Amino acid sequence: MVQRFQQYIDGGFEDAREHFDSVDPSTGDVWARMPAASAEDVDRAVRAAHRALNDPAWANLTASARGKLLYRLADLVAQHAPRLAELETQDTGKIIRETRAQIGYVAEYYRYYAGVADKIQGAWLPVDKPDMEVTLRREPVGVVAGIVPWNSQLFLSAVKVGPALAAGCTIVLKASEDGPAPLLEFARLVHEAGFPKGVVNIVTGFGNDCGRTLTSHPLVSKIAFTGGPETARHVVRNSAENLAAMSLELGGKSPVLVFDDADLDSTCNALVAGIFAATGQSCVAGSRLVVQRGIHDALVERLVAKAQAIRIGNPQDMATEMGPLATRRQLEHIERVLRASVEAGGRVVAGGKQPDGVSKGNYFMPTIVDCPNAQVPSVMEELFGPVLSVVTFDTEADAIALANDTRYGLASGVFTRDLTRAHRLTRALRAGIVWVNTYRAVSPIVPFGGYGLSGLGREGGLEAVLDYTRTKSVWIRTSDEPIADPFVMR
Ligand code: NAD
Repeated sequence: MVQRFQQYIDGGFEDAREHFDSVDPSTGDVWARMPAASAEDVDRAVRAAHRALNDPAWANLTASARGKLLYRLADLVAQHAPRLAELETQDTGKIIRETRAQIGYVAEYYRYYAGVADKIQGAWLPVDKPDMEVTLRREPVGVVAGIVPWNSQLFLSAVKVGPALAAGCTIVLKASEDGPAPLLEFARLVHEAGFPKGVVNIVTGFGNDCGRTLTSHPLVSKIAFTGGPETARHVVRNSAENLAAMSLELGGKSPVLVFDDADLDSTCNALVAGIFAATGQSCVAGSRLVVQRGIHDALVERLVAKAQAIRIGNPQDMATEMGPLATRRQLEHIERVLRASVEAGGRVVAGGKQPDGVSKGNYFMPTIVDCPNAQVPSVMEELFGPVLSVVTFDTEADAIALANDTRYGLASGVFTRDLTRAHRLTRALRAGIVWVNTYRAVSPIVPFGGYGLSGLGREGGLEAVLDYTRTKSVWIRTSDEPIADPFVMR
């Protein structure tokens, strides 16, 4: 039976005037109808968030009370994690093994921000004027527009909703039009946690109507966007209307450097985790293997064996290791770039096609392309799928040059047992994250974000919470003497 989801605006659940189909990526069948928020719906949501911002029910809550609401939300996310995981798997094809673990961890993100709420402090400034007391207040930046892509929507929204609410902001969150079910369901937990109406609003819809109205809305003060660089350009242009503050978490083409002294078994598992987990649909996917010539053949041989042993299947089955791609569009994009890569000299040594005997669903085999140079399209372009491109280097300097030869700069990995080399590389790599002898580790305590086309600003960690505040400088004159010359700046 086709399920129906609702949007959440100003504390109420409602249908939109129009709905669209959501397709199960493992079967290609329509399984749900989603509300397509119109420009008018988005406007109502932003106005509700703006009213809530100044409503005593929210504005007069102490920071500790906001923290308590966030703790309650964290508990509800943990309690409902199995249902949320099932919905995310159903709507995006991400395997249940991963969605269960990831959503359990999303609760920890909310706990982290709950704890931060009453630790956001202002300052007293030792100003150079003896008759002045100057303090710096930290106030919520205002209404936040949160926009997420289809992969890991609960996770990617936690790093927006958590700090926004900890700082005292209100938020309108736009789920992706692909796979919005878990976020629309999450709205029920926000409601149950007891946030005042309008503090959190959750809609879904298409970029052009819903996304554009939200990011250009005059009452929005901050945009927290996760998605691709092309869409980010639209968002930046939209923000010319409201001059909102902005964080952009975009894509990547992250290199993993493997030196000939690395532990091959451990490296191989980390590489598999980096590119084939989440069917490669991860912004930090380690999609470029930069391997030293001496171990190229041995490493590629092991990787091919591992790739061929990956269990592809029904994403709701706990034994499945790789599910389908989230959309048909994504599958066709990967096929297109792979064809161009083969024409440019890339050699497909594993996968490269849909699994034999599969008649429906967006399945694609774990794929490895051995490339003669870094100009092969699969080495340059973000595929957002289970495709690992391999390039070879001789010296450490070559490895660094290859790794940094990209307009992106989100993540990177280094595998070596040489400690001094590891330290040199952490300095030399141009990326927001460097993982040494590990890959794809995250924590709410650690900032996350990229260089270049991978984005602007950071999410996670204490620093990012401050981006949801703005300072107000308060000057208090403490002298009883009359103000002297009014024509001289004091
Ligand atoms: P996308 O850029 O197509 O869409 C992202 C969101 O933007 C969606 O909700 C979409 O509806 C919305 N949108 C589209 N047009 C808009 C407009 N004109 N104005 C406002 N909003 C608009 O991305 P996608 O295909 O859903 O996701 C894949 C991309 O996201 C990849 O590039 C991936 O690397 C990136 N990503 C980055 C991170 C990160 O943290 N750095 C995490 C996950 C995904």
